[in-house]
Amino acid sequence: MGGLGSWGTFGLVGGILGLLFQLALLTLVVVGIVWAVRSLGQANRSGATPGLAAPAASLSSCVSCGAALQQGWKVCPYCGQSAS
Ligand SMILES: [Zn+2]
Repeated sequence: MGGLGSWGTFGLVGGILGLLFQLALLTLVVVGIVWAVRSLGQANRSGATPGLAAPAASLSSCVSCGAALQQGWKVCPYCGQSAS
């Protein structure tokens, strides 16, 4: 087992601590994998629907139809609703 050999002098307690350490390490690895997979899934999902992503220039959305309105627009070009 290499570097963990000195823990053997603690007897049963050392063995339990070693087991807990290995379990904690395993949990960290599993959580890390799950987190990575989730991040990749969200990135793929947002990248697959570029049409739904709001442009960076838009500051507000139409209160009537929800279309993205850019700065300086007085009326919604889609439904004619005046932008507040
Ligand atoms: Zn509108």
